[in-house]
Amino acid sequence: MRAFDFTAPRDVADALGMAGDASAFLAGGTTLVDLMKLDVLAPEQLIDINRLPLRGIRLGPDGLRVGALERMEDIARHDAVATHYPLIAQALLLSASPQLRNMASLGGNLLQRTRCGYFRDVATPCNKRAPGSGCPAQSGDNRAHAILGTSASCAATHASDVAVALVALDASLVLRGTDGERTVSLAAFYLRPGDTPHVENVLRPGELITEVIVPPLEWARHSVYVKVRDRQSYEFSLASAAVAVDLRGGGVHDARVAVGGVGTVPWRLPAVEAALRAGESHEAAAALAGEGARPLAGNAFKVTLVQRVILRALTELAGPR
Ligand code: SF4
Repeated sequence: MRAFDFTAPRDVADALGMAGDASAFLAGGTTLVDLMKLDVLAPEQLIDINRLPLRGIRLGPDGLRVGALERMEDIARHDAVATHYPLIAQALLLSASPQLRNMASLGGNLLQRTRCGYFRDVATPCNKRAPGSGCPAQSGDNRAHAILGTSASCAATHASDVAVALVALDASLVLRGTDGERTVSLAAFYLRPGDTPHVENVLRPGELITEVIVPPLEWARHSVYVKVRDRQSYEFSLASAAVAVDLRGGGVHDARVAVGGVGTVPWRLPAVEAALRAGESHEAAAALAGEGARPLAGNAFKVTLVQRVILRALTELAGPR
């Protein structure tokens, strides 16, 4: 790890004023410190933001508001989250390990970098880490890579589970910079790789995520997060589904469906939602999840797997037949 300056301000404005091109904000550090040790990231200055007043979990008429520094485990165990938005709690509890969840912040989780092995190995080319150097995953080891939203420049999956649940719920981020505050929907926050896979989101240099807002959705109480991975502990998703259904009237009146482990960004599936609203069978709706998929040599199995994960989520929500 390279040497860096360290500072720990108590005030948000001070933290924002200190931020420059060569600095990085440090929250839980569960991704940043790893990547610094691997020499993938080498900030000259770390701004520890843990003393900033960016905590709090509040449920009100405008929905759920969570401070960006809230820890994953604390959010997952919060009564209001577990009761009103179980897919968020479940996505968090199916992430990482208890030790990591007790350290990792929500804001940091949403900004975590991909697990593509080439990105994490500085001895290999990678367009995301070193723009223009190439993408060895296109013809190399790509079993865990994305099938949706890919480009010839990058096919890395987005690693966050809770981002999938939040995209399904139309969540927004409050971003604060030295110029002021703005609110951006999480779906618009993330960028597909295109020709610039190193640009992953719309966060401006020196800007900070301060809060996550989840709009009210009464029927999100009836929701689930299903995750399939190579082992049942401390592993990233091969395919996952965040699904909420409104079962008024004996059938599916409305639905939210987003998937993870298969997209370069958390992937909402409006065609699947529309099919469910139209009364299509679960199987017919889930089959639409593979539309537009562009698998590589090693990950074609994900086209079927993602449909089955959605089907399992819908089956769980429908209850015993
Ligand atoms: Fe890098 Fe993306 Fe290619 Fe992985 S898939 S090697 S992150 S450019």
